[in-house]
Amino acid sequence: MPKPIDLHAHSSVSDGTETPAQLIRAAVAAGLDVVAITDHDSTSGWTEAFDAARGTGLTVLPGLELSTQLQYASVHVLGYLVDPTNAALVAATAQIREERLHRAEKMVARIVKDYPRLSWDDVMAQTTPGATVGRPHIADALVARGYASDRSAAFQSILHWQGGYYQPQEAPAPVVGVRLIAEAGGAPVIAHPGARGPEQLLNDERLRQLVDAGLFGLEANHRDNIQGSPEKWARTAREFGLVITGSSDYHGEGKPNRLAENTTSREVYEQIVAHATGTVPFCG
Ligand code: AMP
Ligand code: FE
Ligand code: FE
Ligand code: ZN
Repeated sequence: MPKPIDLHAHSSVSDGTETPAQLIRAAVAAGLDVVAITDHDSTSGWTEAFDAARGTGLTVLPGLELSTQLQYASVHVLGYLVDPTNAALVAATAQIREERLHRAEKMVARIVKDYPRLSWDDVMAQTTPGATVGRPHIADALVARGYASDRSAAFQSILHWQGGYYQPQEAPAPVVGVRLIAEAGGAPVIAHPGARGPEQLLNDERLRQLVDAGLFGLEANHRDNIQGSPEKWARTAREFGLVITGSSDYHGEGKPNRLAENTTSREVYEQIVAHATGTVPFCG
């Protein structure tokens, strides 16, 4: 059996519960051949991940998961091997992180009216400095204050999009995100295309536009692809000449997703590396 390749994982640079070094140790312990570090809207975990991988035999595929938005729904675009110094991408991710902060503040301002022990400082206490802030950090603060039993419970109640406190994220359109990644030399792949939200948006016409903008693949094998089966998304990928990936979307203890629960073939991994020009994988 070849060792597994998992191309989607988060660290505490965004909403994972482990530092980049801890994420790498978890990937080594899981027996991975390749792990991608794909924090939301940030590449700032790469260096720590590379340092931790040195001498382990693990390969780190550096990437990010870019937030985009269409008709109030979030569409996530994975960008592998982007040039982390690309000016347009650096500016766009900084702006998205800033917007995420304001969005979280709005949600917390609503929540505290009904859950008075919660404060903005609690949320900040759950983030590492400079991290990309999101609902998971609000969830952790709610757990710390005893308002939810764990992150997932908070997502299913107070933080649910229909929970009464939700604020949609404002972000560039998917076609803009795909182009940003492609122009930064990266390989853009739509994350969990069958998760709630993206599915009805990713019709043939939109997919065609995304392909024209430089889209390289679809993450067909992901536990959140509840709308349309993995087979359906794989068929769509083949129709549009896109590669098919599979990944865990590991968030440490923050989510039930386990490393290597979905994987990507060696062949597709090599196609991604051959296609991208922004940077190269780190072979530890
Ligand atoms: P946001 O981006 O702020 O709307 O929050 C959604 C993010 O929360 C997604 O990236 C999810 O992967 C992440 N997340 C982390 N832990 C959980 C969890 N336990 N349940 C649901 N979503 C989670
Ligand atoms: Fe996440
Ligand atoms: Fe995502
Ligand atoms: Zn993710």
